[in-house]
Amino acid sequence: MIRSGEYIRDLFQRPVGESVTARGWVKTRRDSKGIHFVQLNDGSCFQDLQVVIEAGVIPDDTLTAITTGACIAVAGELVESPASGQAVELKASSITIYGMSDPATYPLQKKGHTMEFLREKAHLRPRSNTFGAVFRVRNALSYAIHTFFQERGFLYVHTPVITASDCEGAGAMFGVTTLDMMNLPRTEEGAIDYGQDFFGKPAYLTVSGQLEGEIFALAFSNIYTFGPTFRAENSNTPRHLAEFWMIEPEMAFCDLDDNRALAEEFLKYIIQYVLDRCAPDLEFFNKRIDNTVLQTLEHVASAPFEHITYTDAISILKDSGRNWEFPVYWGADLQSEHERYLTEEKFQRPVVVTDYPKQIKAFYMRDNDDGRTVRAMDVLAPRIGEIIGGSQREERYDVLLEKIRAQRLPEEAYWWYLELRKYGSAPHSGFGLGLERMLMYLTGMKNIRDVIPFPRTPGSAEF
Ligand code: ATP
Ligand code: MN
Repeated sequence: MIRSGEYIRDLFQRPVGESVTARGWVKTRRDSKGIHFVQLNDGSCFQDLQVVIEAGVIPDDTLTAITTGACIAVAGELVESPASGQAVELKASSITIYGMSDPATYPLQKKGHTMEFLREKAHLRPRSNTFGAVFRVRNALSYAIHTFFQERGFLYVHTPVITASDCEGAGAMFGVTTLDMMNLPRTEEGAIDYGQDFFGKPAYLTVSGQLEGEIFALAFSNIYTFGPTFRAENSNTPRHLAEFWMIEPEMAFCDLDDNRALAEEFLKYIIQYVLDRCAPDLEFFNKRIDNTVLQTLEHVASAPFEHITYTDAISILKDSGRNWEFPVYWGADLQSEHERYLTEEKFQRPVVVTDYPKQIKAFYMRDNDDGRTVRAMDVLAPRIGEIIGGSQREERYDVLLEKIRAQRLPEEAYWWYLELRKYGSAPHSGFGLGLERMLMYLTGMKNIRDVIPFPRTPGSAEF
């Protein structure tokens, strides 16, 4: 049945009177005056297909097997539905049971479960309303991201998952080794002898594909990465995963203004794409999870973004008359309370803050001529704060070398990154978006563990 046209979402489009077969999992079953009503869902859309089984049509032993969680096929005729919210329902003529489900032990009962409970049932939660909606939106968002970049001629590049250079220092890294932990080889000085390890040196799971992305931008002009990244940060927050997906475009011949314009166009495009294609799922989130979701998304998709410099931001925050938990002074990193004030109260729209002090930003960001700021940008959005971080990259060999030295980074490890500036360097820029943070924004889901199929967090890697 791997044919489009036969999903439940397609059956809703078919004319009354047509004979069809629907396959899926039973959400609920209700019996009334000898008639049985079954809500069937195959994941293709939010709406369940209502199956109506009239008395005497289906053998009793088949009927008893139709319980919540069971997997069945229903052949029958599409008829006009008297129920509101659906045009058609399926009048069953025969039913096949693929897999039964013991109602006494099936974990997803009709009553609402907590997100924590469902997290422990990650093998079954995709069948729930909430997670059905989450993963359809995740799918649409992923496709929107590819579509946006492909339409603009960007090359999709697969940067490595295993890396031997802790280059970016974006976060704590997971080691990758085949050494025998019980019997580690040692050097004469007593250190672990990574020379005997698989790669002949320490290796890690990547925290970002940016530096390799720059290599490709300086060959293919415009590229993007979209893949898993890893951070061994032992912080149990609702916004951090140990394994998450990141999108990192990198553009040659692109300065910070172009970068900012692309980030705005990108965010608007992917939000509008999901608004257009996942309306029933988003309506569910708006109704059941966070009643500001639709309003903010529609606003962000249409309102022009505000642009201020970091220096402006500091004056605005100082003049706000607020008592900040984190002190505001030139040189301080913006905290969530500051970001939310700017975007939710001061400007009431997304705000791009640029030109941050160099000491709070990464070494690869391009120096401004003022000697104290760099060409960095953060896109702040209402309800969440920072959603995208990016910069124009330092393309000048001497300046970059100086910055690596000033931050006391291991110069040798950056040999190829420096060589990019020696052979055919060009102004270039890029940004990064965390897929799961974007999904939290789209769905209103409060915990990042609930927007990824199988979350990896400290102490937890079941499934
Ligand atoms: P934060 O301050 O929230 O930890 P960061 O400054 O470490 O974020 P970056 O290094 O700029 O984040 O990473 C780029 C993007 O990746 C972030 O904007 C965010 O969307 C996402 N991100 C970062 N760390 C995580 C994580 N542990 N889990 C999920 N997404 C993350
Ligand atoms: Mn972090």
